[in-house]
Amino acid sequence: MALLRALSALGASVSSSRLPATRACRFLAGAGLARPFSSGEPSAEQQADLRRHVEGIIKFRGGPITFAEYMRTALTSPMGGFYGDKYVNESAGGGKGTVIGARGDFVTSPEISQLFGEMVGLWCVTVWQQLGSPETLRLVELGPGKGTLMADLLRSTSASSAVFQSFQKALRNGSQAGVNLVEISPAFREAQASALSKYSTGEDSSLVEWHNALQDVPEDGETPTIYIAHEFLDALPVHMFVKKSAAWTELLVDLDDRKAVSLDPEAKVPDPEFVMKLSPGATPSMKLLLHPRLEALDEDTRGEIREIEVSGSVIEHTLAVSNRLAASKGGGAALFIDYGYDDLPGKFTCRAIRDHKLLDDLLAPCADLTADVDFSLIRSVVEKMERAPAVSGPISQSRFLQSLGIGYRAQALLETPGISEKQAEDLVEGYKRLVGGADVDGMGEIYKAMALVALPESAEGKAGPPVGF
Ligand code: SAH
Repeated sequence: MALLRALSALGASVSSSRLPATRACRFLAGAGLARPFSSGEPSAEQQADLRRHVEGIIKFRGGPITFAEYMRTALTSPMGGFYGDKYVNESAGGGKGTVIGARGDFVTSPEISQLFGEMVGLWCVTVWQQLGSPETLRLVELGPGKGTLMADLLRSTSASSAVFQSFQKALRNGSQAGVNLVEISPAFREAQASALSKYSTGEDSSLVEWHNALQDVPEDGETPTIYIAHEFLDALPVHMFVKKSAAWTELLVDLDDRKAVSLDPEAKVPDPEFVMKLSPGATPSMKLLLHPRLEALDEDTRGEIREIEVSGSVIEHTLAVSNRLAASKGGGAALFIDYGYDDLPGKFTCRAIRDHKLLDDLLAPCADLTADVDFSLIRSVVEKMERAPAVSGPISQSRFLQSLGIGYRAQALLETPGISEKQAEDLVEGYKRLVGGADVDGMGEIYKAMALVALPESAEGKAGPPVGF
């Protein structure tokens, strides 16, 4: 399919329900931060819940936990975690999924403009063609947030063009749901169900299904599958290692035992406070994660760096997706879009954000914790596999979207009969935000795209780069 033809066939018009949000969006580009900001202080109750949960884990273990475990808990605990049920519901004046969006804590590309989900949809259609236009297809999205990307993807590819019709048919041809959403937060699930409510009735009622984790998504060894992860990998926990003199240590989180303990049974028990500590010696994650990561570096870099983050969770997800791609007779692909780096930054990137600001304290309760994605780690993990999918990128989001024709799509939408001045302005603004560099507060350079492709067993040779790369 010629890309231009496909572009011009993309489904109907300007999505009016989405556009008004555009102008209210912003992000801390000046601080090198792509994801953003919190709408206010979490409640005292929520902070106390999270503190007590972390305290419980440390006491249960009988000693400090790794920073990665702290980060996982702080983000996903149902007791006060950033993506936990409570916070998602209560922040920014309520409403399911309000952590993300114009009124919420941060804003993401799919929320900025419908163009983003449309371009990802177009990418999926072209990859499906690269896989030989199979009759059955599964789409898996990891961490779909408010479900906007998937809603735009499904809406725009439901246009009457024959190619799109066959793509959509393939999603409905299997004996199981064709669209699988992996979401840990019950409140985000509700937001997704509402964004995708069109697909919950009638013939389409079995199109979408939810899962807690990737391992729960059905795998039959046959159905070609496309995985999408947008701003998902940066939310996965990182281990943090520091080199002191000649020896590596790991950052751990412990209870602050400098707090006085009273023998008076009537005394008010203070809220637990936490401190960061260096491990006194080697930790299991140093053997499992740090040393293999260091070995993959060239000797000069290895000698120079004194700080490094490694996400075991990113490795697990990369391996799980790649193994699934390699094990499926029908092949498949994955698209990761996130902020991150290809060369080690040589310093920690993990940050805590609240109330639109970077916090000094990574352990400040109920903040959003996020780390840049180490794309070179993903590449090296995949390339070590015996039947490795082909890796493309990372390339800038700007290049990815431009080569998919986002400019033509924006132009076509601007020519929609009856488009209001406000809609047109929002469209242009959204386009600039998605492809522009940091100088115009854009996300085009900070965000990067990486793809994995495994051709079906029946195809000869290794996959070439997919469209857009
Ligand atoms: N992709 C969306 C949302 C990004 S925020 C967008 O671009 O707007 C991260 C999303 O991942 C949220 O939906 C969050 O609830 C989900 N998430 C975070 N950690 C997760 C985990 N370990 N397993 C499943 N979902 C997770």
